[in-house]
Amino acid sequence: MVVVMSPDASDEDIAHIVAKVEGVGGSAFVSKGMVRTIIGLVGDVDSFHGLNLRAMRGVADVHRISDPFKLVSRQHHHARSTVWVGAAEHRVPIGPDTFTLIAGPCAVESRQQTLEAVEMAKAAGASIMRGGAFKPRTSPYAFQGLGVRGLEILSEVRELTGLPVVTEVVDARDVSVVAEHADMLQIGTRNMANFGLLQAVGGTGKPVLLKRGMTATIEEWLMAAEYIAQRGNLDVVLCERGIRTFEPATRNTLDISAVPVVQGKSHLPVIVDPSHAAGLKELVVPLSRAAIAVGADGVIVDVHPNPETALCDGPQALLGNDLRALAQAVRRLPPLVGRAGSPVFDT
Ligand code: PEP
Ligand code: MN
Repeated sequence: MVVVMSPDASDEDIAHIVAKVEGVGGSAFVSKGMVRTIIGLVGDVDSFHGLNLRAMRGVADVHRISDPFKLVSRQHHHARSTVWVGAAEHRVPIGPDTFTLIAGPCAVESRQQTLEAVEMAKAAGASIMRGGAFKPRTSPYAFQGLGVRGLEILSEVRELTGLPVVTEVVDARDVSVVAEHADMLQIGTRNMANFGLLQAVGGTGKPVLLKRGMTATIEEWLMAAEYIAQRGNLDVVLCERGIRTFEPATRNTLDISAVPVVQGKSHLPVIVDPSHAAGLKELVVPLSRAAIAVGADGVIVDVHPNPETALCDGPQALLGNDLRALAQAVRRLPPLVGRAGSPVFDT
């Protein structure tokens, strides 16, 4: 941490800060310039925060050097992590060596619709299936999901297809029932800053897919991941799903640069959701290609056997030629950036 003194700070002001820092066990290194003095602090940053340095006389600014997120930071854990999803022989990696396709319906509507969507997804190279049983809808009048019945359908479809399940939990009261059925718990964009929910999913021991809040900065997103990690759960995969901007041509603006930025700051895997970013099926394949090229560890996409009848997000669901184009991209492009493609093609 660095304390920048104002030009009119006195020697007493500086001595006061040095004494306070030493009082909490830290060391202070004073560097006097022509106009200003700066003080470098070494020691426990949290105890320095407790000093309220910015409020002390003569202080112009205080800069933090180390990341405020510790457990998920790459500063102390340089190697990038791999998160394994699913039980025993169906375990699927998400991490730096592979490119993982997660696909399935936005919402579980019925057993038949979910099975068809997941079979299409698997044929396209998906090794993990998605599907919402609890849906966080903007309108209270929209389809809210099948709830526990939806979870049961996901379990049945896992039995039939062998694909591990990621599904969203929207309420801390549902965490244990969702964890009973899911291989990975999804925290959606609307709940990224629901800290009680983050702590609750952190306590399940199941991997977590943490979407970026639609108005969250990268630091806020990593601090949300830190809440989960603090509960002893480092199996967190981050998902860039677009942010709110002034541009209405797409549902959200995919912040593709967030992928390498986050990979520089955190050891956690980072995937992209082009479906919820764009909101339009035509853009899902180009954005998936971009995600692979920029170094994402996977993508998660919506697939539906009949998008016209979809109860949620039909316009962004893939099938037919679009899905075939996605399969081709997922098969051909990852090796060009030094990754193994979907493990589905190797079996
Ligand atoms: C979803 O994946 O079904 C979803 C609701 O996504 P998001 O939270 O990114 O809007
Ligand atoms: Mn959706």
